[in-house]
Amino acid sequence: MKKLILCFLIAFLSTFFLSANFYASSTQAQSENIAQLASSVELVTVDLSNNRITIGQNPYFKNIKEPKIFRFAEIDKAPLLLVNKTHPVNKDFYNPNSIDLTDKLPTTKNNLKLASEAAQALIDLFCAAKNDGIKNLTIVSAYRSYNYQNNLHNRKIDFYLKQGKSLNEAKKLAATVVALPGTSEHQTSLAVDFSSREILKNGGLEQNFESTPEGIWLRDNAYKFGFILRYPADKQSITGIIYEPWHFRYLGKPHSEIIYKNKFCLEEYIDYLKKNKKIEYTSENGQKFLIHYLENIRNIKEIEVWAYTGQAIGASLDNTGGLILTLEVE
Ligand SMILES: [Zn+2]
Repeated sequence: MKKLILCFLIAFLSTFFLSANFYASSTQAQSENIAQLASSVELVTVDLSNNRITIGQNPYFKNIKEPKIFRFAEIDKAPLLLVNKTHPVNKDFYNPNSIDLTDKLPTTKNNLKLASEAAQALIDLFCAAKNDGIKNLTIVSAYRSYNYQNNLHNRKIDFYLKQGKSLNEAKKLAATVVALPGTSEHQTSLAVDFSSREILKNGGLEQNFESTPEGIWLRDNAYKFGFILRYPADKQSITGIIYEPWHFRYLGKPHSEIIYKNKFCLEEYIDYLKKNKKIEYTSENGQKFLIHYLENIRNIKEIEVWAYTGQAIGASLDNTGGLILTLEVE
């Protein structure tokens, strides 16, 4: 009996010290609400031979569940992909898990497709906008195929050629305004271009969207639905794309909130995760998340995530060779 009590005592104390260590780091916030986890607690092990990633090593955590399995086809098309000039996707990249939103949301398109997770978030966003009195929000573009993007890009080059630019100049200028095929986020089914009915009616410039009620509302609220303003005015040197107040990108929560609160752009956020490897984040509504960045996960085909310390809510490749795991701590 004494032995049994001793066992329980050791188990209890171990749990207590590990937990204390685990959460002590939350006071060492580096950026808003972000804390780097204490490195003394090793939470993630990667077993590439079995394609298994285990999160949480403490045997005294009682909430062990069945593993959540993420197939490669999912994590390869998941919301945290970085797509830009240096990290393109290939010609055949297509998210098969897309939804047609043409009849569900106000749009000027007759074929409006978005990845299903992003589509649901967008429907919620429109609902909230309406409740806040934002009535003229409309969508002018979502999924665009490689070929469609190629046509857009070539048309822009022609436009600059007609203005008397050399072919080289025309190509350079076109690339800052219309992404090269393979480097457009629209091919991922995770990006949305918005406008307002007022702007469309008056033939106003897209840049004016930032000062419309719709543009202002989106800038301040899109993160609550998993979207970010992807090309901010002060990040042009990093994104390589002009300020686009209309272009929003779905990443999911809590990533959109972390980016919004810390004024990151996506490139900076991926770098931040790469440097810190594990971060803990408490969202504005009090949910606690753990985000793990695992490098060099290029060839993995299937991942089992055994999340002993929380609930796995996302696994996404980042298109730079890393895998980002998102867990909600219970
Ligand atoms: Zn766009």
